[in-house]
Amino acid sequence: RTAQEALERLIVDVPDWPEPGVTFKDITPVLADHHAFSAIITALAAAGKDDHGNVVVDKVVGMEARGFILAAPVALALGVGFVPIRKAGKLPRETHAVTYTLEYGEATLEVHRDGIAPGERVLMIDDVLATGGTVVATRQLIEACGGTATSCSVLLELGFLEPRAVTGDLPIASLLTV
Ligand code: 5GP
Repeated sequence: RTAQEALERLIVDVPDWPEPGVTFKDITPVLADHHAFSAIITALAAAGKDDHGNVVVDKVVGMEARGFILAAPVALALGVGFVPIRKAGKLPRETHAVTYTLEYGEATLEVHRDGIAPGERVLMIDDVLATGGTVVATRQLIEACGGTATSCSVLLELGFLEPRAVTGDLPIASLLTV
C-alpha cells in the first residue's frame, strides 16, 4: 500500500515521448526518493516468497535497462543471484536470443546460456508492463536455459494495452495498474 501510494505520487507522465501520441511513464523520481525506493523493492520481492515468507525462487532476472535497477536489489533482498537480460550484442559469452515486437518497434533480448541452470525457478522484474512482449520474450529465454519462469513483478502495468492477453498463465504482480 505504501509502495502503491509512492508510485501514484511520484511517477511522472511525459506526453509525446519518445514519439507523438505516446505518454511515457517516468519512474526515475521513485528511485530518487529513498523511502519510496525501499518500499517498492520490498513490494517487488514479495513475488519471490510464499505466504509464509519462504523464498521460492532461485534467480532474479532484470530486463535492460530499468529492470536492472530494480532486479538487483530484489535479488539481494531475497538472498538469490541476479541475471541480466540484455539487448542484442551486449553479452560477451554464448547466449540464447529471442526477437520480438515491442511498443515502439522490434527488439532482440539475450541471456547467457549458463546464467540460469536447468530446473531453476526464476522471478522476472521490470519497471513497466506495456504490451507484454518483453515479458513473453524473457520467459522464452528462461525456458531456453531449462529454467522455469515462476512469476513476474512490475511497478506499473498499463492495463489499457491489455498485456495479460499475451502473458497467458504467468502470475504477474503489478504494484500499480493504470
Ligand atoms: P512491452 O514489451 O510490455 O510493450 O514494454 C515493456 C518494456 O518497455 C519495459 O522494459 C519498459 O521498461 C519499457 N516501457 C514501455 N513503455 C514504458 C513507459 O511508459 N515507461 C517506462 N518507464 N518504460 C516503458
